[in-house]
Amino acid sequence: MSFELPPLPYAQDALEPHISRQTLEYHHGKHHKAYVDNLNKLVVGTAYEHEESLETIIQKTAQNEKEVGIFNNAAQVWNHSFFWHSMKPRGGGRPSGTMLRRLEQDFGSYEAFAELFQKEGLAQFGSGWVWLVESAGKLAVVRTANAANPSIKGQKPLLTCDVWEHAYYLDYQNRRPDFLKVFLENLADWDFAEKNLAAA
Ligand code: MN
Repeated sequence: MSFELPPLPYAQDALEPHISRQTLEYHHGKHHKAYVDNLNKLVVGTAYEHEESLETIIQKTAQNEKEVGIFNNAAQVWNHSFFWHSMKPRGGGRPSGTMLRRLEQDFGSYEAFAELFQKEGLAQFGSGWVWLVESAGKLAVVRTANAANPSIKGQKPLLTCDVWEHAYYLDYQNRRPDFLKVFLENLADWDFAEKNLAAA
């Protein structure tokens, strides 16, 4: 049993001009692939060697600091797959239907949510992720450091943006705020978020 790099859900140039083909070549083809390869090496000879569920590995290794290497790579494999699906060509902007209603209910307005998401994405010092989650029945924006994932705190991820520098440096250099704005205005896949919200 070994994990494989899942294909991107769109072509490498499908998110241009917002995210370049070159960024996706590296981010998916090199960074994401390296997490898969590292995970496959690290689980050999451990209790996880024959574990097929990435989610199970993430939950179990999150509790054990001796397994931080496996955790980091397993969580980064999962986080990146989730991130690719959090975006689509011609995405972004204000959602409609259930997602809009829930954002208005829990943040006051779509604009208030968008402001908070950008603020938290910028506030993450160094590498990490900003997430829209459902937590105890309410939508919330949370940020995590490095590979960490809200599911280890029992929160349900709905949408995420990678704020590691490798996610935006080729296209935006050090301008993380510009990348977060483009993610929300041009890339976010609200259908994916709504599907996650509806899932058990
Ligand atoms: Mn990344």
